[in-house]
Amino acid sequence: VRCYSTSASKGSSISGIKDIIAVASGKGGVGKSTTAVNLAVALANTSQLKVGLLDADIYGPSIPTMMKLHLHGKPEVSEDLKMIPFENYGVRCMSIGFLVDKDAPIVWRGPMVMSALEKLTRGVAWGNIDVLVVDMPPGTGDVQLSISQRLQLSGALIVSTPQDIALIDARRGASMFRKVEVPILGLVENMSCFQCPHCGEKSYIFGRGGARRTAEEMDMEFLGEIPLEQEIRTASDEGSPIVISAAESAAAKAYTNVAVKV
Ligand code: ADP
Repeated sequence: VRCYSTSASKGSSISGIKDIIAVASGKGGVGKSTTAVNLAVALANTSQLKVGLLDADIYGPSIPTMMKLHLHGKPEVSEDLKMIPFENYGVRCMSIGFLVDKDAPIVWRGPMVMSALEKLTRGVAWGNIDVLVVDMPPGTGDVQLSISQRLQLSGALIVSTPQDIALIDARRGASMFRKVEVPILGLVENMSCFQCPHCGEKSYIFGRGGARRTAEEMDMEFLGEIPLEQEIRTASDEGSPIVISAAESAAAKAYTNVAVKV
């Protein structure tokens, strides 16, 4: 596992956490959270690594639902006043979704978002963690930049669909990480193709080959293709990630391959 060897790692800025990797996308809705969840769960279940998952998507936290932790209420607080993360599928999780009412809109400006993220990172009793996977907010604004710099990321993985407008934003994401000298672990193409469950014909709904080309042009590793599949969506909605609920499926293997590569 590339960036997690202690000798290579400078260590993260959160005590007890060795490496932090960001899962980012230029655009919302491309499958960033789904990838972050399946990556974290695959890492926890196929390696000896202790894995955490931080939902930094403050305006649209979906980790509590995707990890089936949405009914747990608020986290308890330890003696040293840190929040105790919830755990499922071998992954310790923290999300703003555990702290706010799920129907309440979060109308915070940048500084408030950053102070919430400070609590969700350094205010958590993570224990010893080898890899913290961070589900980033979509885009390349102030908050994304601050997270990248403050957390001393070991690397960033970029998720995009194969369509041009998503790839344009994925390039922006990659450029942002390069500017702040965060190594890019690679590009994952999500929703790459749809195979009809009846006739088996493949449709490339969002285009074909665009992400691989973009990865080459931007000198990023291409980490693989995740198909567009109803089962990925239902597994996420039910809170049992596909790498657990259908571990032998092609889609689950595609996620596990990404985990092996990072
Ligand atoms: P983002 O974090 O980029 O906003 P999400 O991971 O929340 O995106 O995904 C958006 C929606 O698309 C969710 O309903 C999710 O279940 C669904 N989805 C993501 N990836 C796939 C896929 N490969 N196949 C089918 N549905 C997917």
